Amino acid sequence: MDTTKLPKMLYGGDYNPEQWDESIWPEDMRLIPLAGMNIATVNVFSWAMLQPNEDTYHFETLDRIMDMLHKNGIYACLATSTGAHPAWMARKYPEVLRTDFNGRQRKFGGRHNSCPNSPLYRSLSTQLAAKLAERYKDHPALLLWHVSNEYGGECYCDRCETAFREWLRAKYGTLDKLNEQWNTRFWGHTFYEWDEIVLPNALSEQWSSDRTCFQGISLDYTRFNSDSLLECYKLEYDAIKAQTPDLPVTTNLMGTFKGLDYFKWAKHMDIIAWDNYPSMDTPTSFTAMTHDLMRGLKSGAPFLLMEQTPSQQNWQAYNTLKRPGIMRLWSYQAVAHGSDSVMFFQLRRSVGACEKYHGALIEHVGHEHTRVFRECAQLGRELDSLDTKLLGSRLPSRIAIMYDWENRWAIEYSSGPTIDLKYVDEIHNYYRALYEQGHQVDIVSFEEDLSPYAIVLAPVMYMVKPGMAARIEAYVAAGGKFVTTFFSGIVNENDIVTLGGYPGELRGLLGIWAEEIDALFPGHHNRIVMKDSLGNLQGEYKCSILCDLIHSEGAEVLAEYGDDFYKGMPVLTRNRFGSGEAWYVASSPDADFLQGFLGALCDSSNIKPLPGKQPGVEVSLRSREGRSYLFVLNHNAAEVTVELGEFAGVDLITGTAVSGQVPLAGCDVLIIEQFA
Ligand SMILES: [Zn+2]
Repeated sequence: MDTTKLPKMLYGGDYNPEQWDESIWPEDMRLIPLAGMNIATVNVFSWAMLQPNEDTYHFETLDRIMDMLHKNGIYACLATSTGAHPAWMARKYPEVLRTDFNGRQRKFGGRHNSCPNSPLYRSLSTQLAAKLAERYKDHPALLLWHVSNEYGGECYCDRCETAFREWLRAKYGTLDKLNEQWNTRFWGHTFYEWDEIVLPNALSEQWSSDRTCFQGISLDYTRFNSDSLLECYKLEYDAIKAQTPDLPVTTNLMGTFKGLDYFKWAKHMDIIAWDNYPSMDTPTSFTAMTHDLMRGLKSGAPFLLMEQTPSQQNWQAYNTLKRPGIMRLWSYQAVAHGSDSVMFFQLRRSVGACEKYHGALIEHVGHEHTRVFRECAQLGRELDSLDTKLLGSRLPSRIAIMYDWENRWAIEYSSGPTIDLKYVDEIHNYYRALYEQGHQVDIVSFEEDLSPYAIVLAPVMYMVKPGMAARIEAYVAAGGKFVTTFFSGIVNENDIVTLGGYPGELRGLLGIWAEEIDALFPGHHNRIVMKDSLGNLQGEYKCSILCDLIHSEGAEVLAEYGDDFYKGMPVLTRNRFGSGEAWYVASSPDADFLQGFLGALCDSSNIKPLPGKQPGVEVSLRSREGRSYLFVLNHNAAEVTVELGEFAGVDLITGTAVSGQVPLAGCDVLIIEQFA
């Protein structure tokens, strides 16, 4: 989707008028534009209304909603309603129901409740999408398609089991190959017929959702399940595209959600859209990282913030209000990281069921004289004044962090060496060290072209997929700086260990051999003792979780362990390889180490931080056609004085020229267009 063609930044959110008496609609049409909104996501959960039984379709209500939106100058992000099937379908066709991890077939209820391999679900959902596309293809309100909603969950039914065997047959070709890659001679689990293979759940190989006897089976099931749901999405996508080839189609993703390989999904989406629901105590760096991950799904293309709450959520244990200014600040944070929209769940707060305490533009009181409405309306005026300036602009970066869902699944299915290793947390540790120093980062897939980057970080690259080692070697040989860490290069794409010494295929590049891996108890640590200083990195630091016991095989040793029987063994190494450098960090270091280490790496690559960075203040830069826009976000409650250095321009929100030292109130934002 080319967002540069949009007339304005998109501002709006989920709107469910079909859940209300129509007499309230005119008031909605007064209030939504009053808040400056220009888009409504409609029809997300309307399957039961659109199709009250198998043979009957009723589109009249949706017709009136679409016409009403158009009449009031509001675009429709039109959903297909297939995120929850109707009750009649479950009763008539129990095959559409999912079977859970414990092997129990579900009854009707909840959402994400359809078996992704049910032929009936697939045909009925695709049929509904096709009918919607046919009916609304020329509707003037229609801007964007929204397939289903927040895909996720698993199914362990017999149909999924049969489909899994077919998926495996396509992947491995022969049972011999499958037995080898799953190492089924372990415990005598060798398969002689395809039908002997069963799904890994509580009835078979897994004793919990993330603990398994056979990582290979569980890893393949997770891939298969992601593919099964993706297939459902693609069927609807194709049905829509057949009618409206020029309209963009998306679905709403969920950031670091574990169950789906979003890089694979992104190839079938016209624009990335995602739902951002941080808790009030989520670090701002974590939210920033998640936005960057979503931007990375399509190699840096702008995305849509599809949902966030204007005030509070309902599904967390403690649903704190967003304090005054926070909704605006976090909305701009999304824009700062590449969003070309600000959208909410929801526009009118529902009257019953589990989301009635979820925040909304229009609260239960029903009028605009609320704190939340005022804040939304202020943001609406500001976004309107930004016009088209930011649309389509990108975030230039010379630093990339590699991220991979399959790698995460494999790490977190691993039985040993520790249950405390969480892939996303390790990624975040490295991200935060750069964020805290004002460096802009891209998050990229294992497949991404690395050549634009001076520095590539790959924390815990446990799984090395075919061809990857050679690509990384070529990148480093050509002058790149590559950093990886403990527990890397251990297995192939099927979780089979690469023999001949860790880190396997990366061993030659890194110039080290990891002989053993020690797991530390919670609260325990070892010490990183620097041999000499490296930039500001000097003295001692703490490290924890895992410690690789490594030997240099040509790599320069910059720091050693300070404790235990492996005191004096290397913990930080650098191997010069071709024109570049390959670094290994053998344990999980503290934040001070990472700041010093990554600061030194950036210095050595002549990568300068963005201006304006100070504690609690976030900075990012978007640019388009030679114009640069610096975002300065004050996450502190108190006013700060921002130092802009040589950067000078006009603050797009206030229209005033800014340069040098600029006061910035608590929770306030600057978007500075640099003087040409
Ligand atoms: Zn199923």
